[in-house]
Amino acid sequence: MALIVQKYGGTSVANPERIRNVAKRVARYKAMGHQVVVVVSAMSGETNRLIALAKEIMPEPDPRELDVMVSTGEQVTIGMTALALMELGIKAKSYTGTQVKILTDDAFTKARILSIDEANIKRDLNDGYVVVVAGFQGADANGNITTLGRGGSDTTGVALAAALKADECQIYTDVDGVYTTDPRIVPEARRLDKITFEEMLELASQGSKVLQIRSVEFAGKYKVKLRVLSSFEDEGDGTLITFEENEGNNMEDPIISGIAFNRDEAKITVLGVPDKPGIAYQILGPVAEANIDVDMIIQNTGADGTTDFTFTVHKNEMNKALSILRDKVQPHIHAREINGDDKIAKVSVVGVGMRSHVGVASKMFRTLAEEGINIQMISTSEIKIAVVIEEKYMELAVRVLHKAFELEEA
Ligand code: ADP
Ligand code: ASP
Ligand code: MG
Repeated sequence: MALIVQKYGGTSVANPERIRNVAKRVARYKAMGHQVVVVVSAMSGETNRLIALAKEIMPEPDPRELDVMVSTGEQVTIGMTALALMELGIKAKSYTGTQVKILTDDAFTKARILSIDEANIKRDLNDGYVVVVAGFQGADANGNITTLGRGGSDTTGVALAAALKADECQIYTDVDGVYTTDPRIVPEARRLDKITFEEMLELASQGSKVLQIRSVEFAGKYKVKLRVLSSFEDEGDGTLITFEENEGNNMEDPIISGIAFNRDEAKITVLGVPDKPGIAYQILGPVAEANIDVDMIIQNTGADGTTDFTFTVHKNEMNKALSILRDKVQPHIHAREINGDDKIAKVSVVGVGMRSHVGVASKMFRTLAEEGINIQMISTSEIKIAVVIEEKYMELAVRVLHKAFELEEA
């Protein structure tokens, strides 16, 4: 007997018929003698609908109230899933994040899980229940409802698996595993039987939304056995995230495992600031204090005693960052110009094989140059090269890079 956490995404619970299918799969696992915890997302489109409703009332919604609203999507699907299980004669019980006691910090709309009280779930499982938990939500120390950021149900699933010491966490979605890139953009993309934890972390952090990055972080920290599978197919082993050391030294190993992209970032440029110690801190300190995450950062070599500074933030936070810079920072730094650009995209190639191969960067840059795609920013890590380009070239860039690195189906 194993304890398994199964997470079902929005398209997998999009209507009553699909929820019945979820219940049938859970029933099969129960029949094999396993204990099952189910985590569900809201029905597909529901979270977007709720955000749009909030924006109709307040264009930049108060984050606490927004979380109160968007968390309702998952409250509907836990009830429906529990009902569907009962209809199959299976004992089932639903829990919201608050009912479980999923404690988070108070960063509304992007809260982090601090702890999970597993006592009630354990008791129900031992009494023969399937426990159905709402993804994406928790509560802070004062009982305020919080949500975990878009795609956050993945993180609920993996965090529960860690807290319950589950044997496996299965992420059921609308594709049958992790591909070399999003198969919606490149139909020739290839499914990977397995991928190293390190590569998955990098792909997720660079924008592959098949898994939310925090779910991968949890899996790494607590060594959760994590698998991505299709909820529309009964066969298939999907993609396993592995922890075995694979240094990519094997000649047959691919150099690049996958390509990620992200259109959610915006670029902020601060031109003509004094080139002196402390300037980066003066610019980025207030941005960090406002809890705005900064991704790429570039500072130019100074000339004439001044320099330029460029960084990226989430598109949703560009205006907030710009007003902090203009109101709070500009009086001290006297920049010549402060600009925002949200028509950008980031494209990244990822692979542990890069460690032992040279020339990956030059191949990437040559491939983009041949298509006339201008690179605006570059950042690298041991296993990743990321570039910022104009948004309209993003899909083209992904396709030509996928071909150049020979990632297609054999
Ligand atoms: P869910 O609602 O089940 O959480 P998501 O839409 O969040 O599903 O994530 C699944 C989607 O992720 C796929 O439909 C696919 O378009 C996209 N995706 C992006 N990159 C990849 C990749 N490398 N492999 C598989 N799917 C990917
Ligand atoms: N429903 C939430 C979202 O759409 C959480 C999730 O689906 O993982 O982002
Ligand atoms: Mg998702």
